[in-house]
Amino acid sequence: MTTIASSMKTYGNFIDGKWVPASSGNTSENRNPADNRELLGIFQRSAGPEVNLAVEAADAAFQKWSRVPAPRRAEIIIRTAAILEERKDEYARDMTREMGKVLKETRGDVQEAIDTAYYFAGEGRRMFGLTTPSELPNKFALCSREPVGVCGMICPWNFPMAIPSWKLFPALVAGNTCVIKPAEITPLSLMNLVGAMTEAGVPPGVVNVVTGHAHEVGAVLTQHPLVRAVSFTGSTEVGRIIGESCSRSFKRCALEMGGKNPMIVLDDANLDLALDGALWGAFGTAGQRCTATSRIIVQKGVYKRFTEELAQRAQTLRIGNGLDESVDIGPVVSKTQMETVLHYVEIGRREGARLVCGGERFDTAECGHGYFVEPTVFTDVDPKMRIAQEEIFGPVVALLPCNSLEDAIQIANGVNYGLSSALYTRDINRALEAIAALDAGIAYINAPTIGAEVHLPFGGVKQSGNGHREGGVGALDFYTQWKTVYIDYSDRLQRAQIDRPE
Ligand code: NAD
Repeated sequence: MTTIASSMKTYGNFIDGKWVPASSGNTSENRNPADNRELLGIFQRSAGPEVNLAVEAADAAFQKWSRVPAPRRAEIIIRTAAILEERKDEYARDMTREMGKVLKETRGDVQEAIDTAYYFAGEGRRMFGLTTPSELPNKFALCSREPVGVCGMICPWNFPMAIPSWKLFPALVAGNTCVIKPAEITPLSLMNLVGAMTEAGVPPGVVNVVTGHAHEVGAVLTQHPLVRAVSFTGSTEVGRIIGESCSRSFKRCALEMGGKNPMIVLDDANLDLALDGALWGAFGTAGQRCTATSRIIVQKGVYKRFTEELAQRAQTLRIGNGLDESVDIGPVVSKTQMETVLHYVEIGRREGARLVCGGERFDTAECGHGYFVEPTVFTDVDPKMRIAQEEIFGPVVALLPCNSLEDAIQIANGVNYGLSSALYTRDINRALEAIAALDAGIAYINAPTIGAEVHLPFGGVKQSGNGHREGGVGALDFYTQWKTVYIDYSDRLQRAQIDRPE
């Protein structure tokens, strides 16, 4: 493949504060999905030996880092946030070049890391425990949060800085040390984040980055005996493998996985607002969000109008290189992803859904070297069709008609996933009814299925998650464990449950 970049650089793994090459000598290229002639950098294709080094470095660093007072750890995180703010535009541009999404979204991705840093730095002076009365006199009972130890982290490519920040900042403020693996196709944004953290004063060994392919790095990390907790974000298929692997050695394991997120539009909805939400929810990040709106369940009274206007508006979205500020939709992340999305379009056609717009690769002159897919709308989709059941992870949305809210909820809940959901209505009673009935970790009213804020718990039910939450206090619950302490100052043996003083 021809290469047009001149500033191409080779990156090592970042282990114990040093740049370490893969012992095998293997590397991978990081190319721009908007123009695959552009090479952004060469990254190590690491394996077991580098993971072992990184875990050992994290284990050694834990002894000291876990004893640094939490408010001091938080100060380093605050300095990191300040560096990210200064470099927001530069890092957003790098991210657009490596991942494809448009600049306003990559700026949002960096901003999410900044917000996460400030939020969890605040925990340095909170991280509240519990005190509670003892059942016995002259006895004091409390619980404090303690770090878990070495945390392994495995990340996807769609939020290449925000998702690592959701994992790293709460883990660090709580006193853990980390080994983190980016997706093989988006390592640069994680290097930028960890570079900022190191500059801010995170000591060697506290955060280690190992780049490489799926199980070559990931499986070794999840099986390593010194790793006490694993946080994974990615597909349900891989989450299942990681969950099984962690359970064998009883590792704490948080899985954030796929979605097939429904938006319900009732007859009484503000239709313009719902259309704005549908466009953003379905086609933002070229549909490559775990919370992307991938099914729109529309009540029959507005179904026809909604379908026509959505298709019309989808066709006005500008496709192109995300570095161009006037572009609405960038490429999908890779050739494989593009092929998967186009394959699903074919499946939808074969299943009998009606394609009302899009459905093709977009490869006009300036897009000819990239992986662009037209925003695609299928209508008259049956809830049982594969395009209504399976995560496509591209700019493809399925419209399904419904008769009532009850009908819509049944369709919405009729999939294996349960991450995000949305309802457009002006009826508060029906909104509250739906919030309770939707089987999903997140519910939006009069807003699309995307738009999480970092200080609220984030995660899904069913095959979208395994019960843990990122963001907000949910993340602290994962990265800390309770130490329960009883202090008896009675100077005599007191037996719980047996001695029952008046
Ligand atoms: P993926 O599951 O293919 O890969 C995720 C990570 O796991 C990558 O770093 C990959 O190298 C690694 N991996 C793959 N196989 C592995 C194995 N056997 N052992 C250990 N590690 C392994 O997902 P992706 O394509 O990078 O991302 C898209 C998926 O992520 C979608 O399903 C999307 O819904 C999901 N996602 C979920 C959330 C969430 O918070 N719920 C957020 C973003 C993305």
